[in-house]
Amino acid sequence: MEGKFAKVCIDISHEKVDRPFQYKVPHKLRDVLYPGVQVLIPFGKGDRQRKGFVLSLTDESDYPEEKCKEIIDVAEGGISVEGRYVALAAWMKEHYGSTLIAALKTVLPVKEQVRSLPNREIRLAVSREEREGLLEEAYRKHHEAKARLLEAFEHKEVLPYGFVITSLGVGAKTLQAMEKKGSIVIRETDVYRNPVRIGEKEVVSVSLSDEQKEIVDSFSKDYRAGILKTYLLHGVTGSGKTEVYMEMIQTVLDRGKEVIVLIPEIALTYQTVLRFYKRFGDRISIMHSRLSKGERYDQFERAKKGQIQIMIGARSALFTPFTNLGLIIIDEEHESSYKSDSMPKYHARETAEYMGKQWGASIVLGSATPSVTSYYRAQTGQYGYFKLAHRFGASILPAVHTVDLRKELREGNKSIFSRLLAQKLQDRLSKGQQAMLFLNRRGYAGFVTCRSCGYVAKCPHCDVSLTEHGKTKLVCHYCGYERAALSECPACGSPYIAGFQVGTEQVEERLLQLFPKARVLRMDKDTTKKKDDYEKILSAFSERKADILIGTQMIVKGHDFPGVTLVGVLAADLSLSVGDYRAGERTFQLITQAVGRAGRGKEPGEAVIQTYRPEHYGVVHAAKQDYEGFYEEEIAYRKVCSYPPVSHMLAILLSSSNKEKAEDAAKDLAKLLRENALKEKGADAPVSVIGPADASIGKISDSYRKMIYIRHNDYQDLIKTKDLAEKAFDEDKETYGSCSIYFDFDPMNGY
Ligand code: ADP
Ligand code: ZN
Ligand code: ZN
Repeated sequence: MEGKFAKVCIDISHEKVDRPFQYKVPHKLRDVLYPGVQVLIPFGKGDRQRKGFVLSLTDESDYPEEKCKEIIDVAEGGISVEGRYVALAAWMKEHYGSTLIAALKTVLPVKEQVRSLPNREIRLAVSREEREGLLEEAYRKHHEAKARLLEAFEHKEVLPYGFVITSLGVGAKTLQAMEKKGSIVIRETDVYRNPVRIGEKEVVSVSLSDEQKEIVDSFSKDYRAGILKTYLLHGVTGSGKTEVYMEMIQTVLDRGKEVIVLIPEIALTYQTVLRFYKRFGDRISIMHSRLSKGERYDQFERAKKGQIQIMIGARSALFTPFTNLGLIIIDEEHESSYKSDSMPKYHARETAEYMGKQWGASIVLGSATPSVTSYYRAQTGQYGYFKLAHRFGASILPAVHTVDLRKELREGNKSIFSRLLAQKLQDRLSKGQQAMLFLNRRGYAGFVTCRSCGYVAKCPHCDVSLTEHGKTKLVCHYCGYERAALSECPACGSPYIAGFQVGTEQVEERLLQLFPKARVLRMDKDTTKKKDDYEKILSAFSERKADILIGTQMIVKGHDFPGVTLVGVLAADLSLSVGDYRAGERTFQLITQAVGRAGRGKEPGEAVIQTYRPEHYGVVHAAKQDYEGFYEEEIAYRKVCSYPPVSHMLAILLSSSNKEKAEDAAKDLAKLLRENALKEKGADAPVSVIGPADASIGKISDSYRKMIYIRHNDYQDLIKTKDLAEKAFDEDKETYGSCSIYFDFDPMNGY
């Protein structure tokens, strides 16, 4: 593309981004401009010269050519902080399939009119002796206001403006006169809201274990040598990853650089922030959805002005506008919350890597259960790899017992608690120790399995489990394959082929029937509706105000409860039945993380995993806390079926309020993409177009949802496929006119 025309936005405060202006690119600037560059342009009636950012370049104009004005030149200073983010947005649009406006709104700080509190201070500008001289003169001349002010400077250099005006009763005129004579200075200071007010920073000296030290040294050696790359820090639960992060941060700060630390929102608790605060004090700030818009804006301003050097936050903290970024840490990197579920559907890991490459920062990804994608990249040499194989100190990993629920049923126990788990709960209650019960609620909908033999119906084409649709059929959500619902198990003939219909509330009920005196807390969507419910439940449990905590995946995230010596996973395979290729990975992660909650204190821990499929490799390896064993089997499966990370996948969602339109559009689009794949690559093309099929939620607020999946080894080719689909969608109004289209690359959450 030559780029004869450029879309330019004058001001990237949000409202105006909605209307970029088109300009002609003069010959001398062809091949020079790219998204993010600041240019000089004539603007408005008088053609006043202004600065703007290039958003995109095209060969064709949306307007009559003669109406387009011409770009004057590249603005001095080239690319600014804002320009970098405009370029980032352009990359996100391309890479994840979204509109440019949605991408810009994602990466640019919320610039709404929430002004920070304006503030002024008054500083004494003369020496101590001079002040005394002036004070005597003021007494003599009966300048009382002036005298009061000079008295107030007795022990202080600086006084707040508001205090001087209201409490001391000194008028603005007096102040101006004094400033003119040079005895005081009035200064504007921006006071930004600071959400981290925890107390004093402490001087902490940690001595790292040998294992930890080796990793920090290796990282620092690279960093000082100017080697920037992405590292995977694979450390078992309780191995001290956070201590390692903090040392790495210190290395980066010592070189005058700044750091972003991403933590899943749910793990971003007071406890976590406090650990960082104790070490780095006011150099840190935090960013999460519970802050007000004004507070969030202020944190970005503080970062821009260099008032803080470390930002800790959930996914969106990635876009903290530091000017000198040196390191991005992503803790619990396997978490699916790092993938945005609205447009643009970016993944924080990929986006961080792009930023690192463009701006010169290293990336550290940490997890006890790395995503298969990251581990694959470490194995293939794309990432550096660090391993912490041991828990810190004397604490050891828990002993794990797997209970076969099929056997419990055969032996007459229909309760949701196996005999072993019930017995161990009794034991902990009598010893005054704590327990956590974990119910994986994912995959609840449509989950069908045989309670006698553990059989699960799978799609013969996609090797993912089928999902129940109504009472009559089972469906594959990748390719649309259907079969009749099962009344008896095809493997063993048992009639017990149905759903495991249990929620956390029922678990609590049954638990209290069994142990009426137990003090039980429950954490799920219902009990955490208010902002601070989550923290309240956690702190009550950590203060030992309850014996047993029941919860969904919420409770498995990085909390340290030294009193917990027993963890029960009630139905470990619930997540295996979700109809997507990541089901095994998710199950392994959830069980491993849950088990890792036990025995973090002085007493050793134990875990009981209840399952209908004790032989599933996700369950077997999680019970042994054997990541490598799990990975070997998982990657073999991904290779056979060409699922990511071995290949890439693009999900296209078409939706419409008109059922037929949605169906026809999806069919047409799938056909077009198939034909194109054939044309481009011939019969044995590495592209495969799967579907269309109903989304697993086939209808949301009266809108019908159809999915098409495309697999390809090469991400760039998938981008081309997306471009093709987008073009057809934009041009063929007859087919797609009443539909919406969404793209999702390497999807992580179901549809
Ligand atoms: P992870 O994040 O890997 O689960 P943490 O960083 O939370 O592990 O560490 C687990 C526990 O061990 C924490 O209580 C932490 O303070 C302690 N710990 C880890 N490394 C050290 C160290 N070098 N010195 C003192 N305590 C440590
Ligand atoms: Zn069966
Ligand atoms: Zn299928």
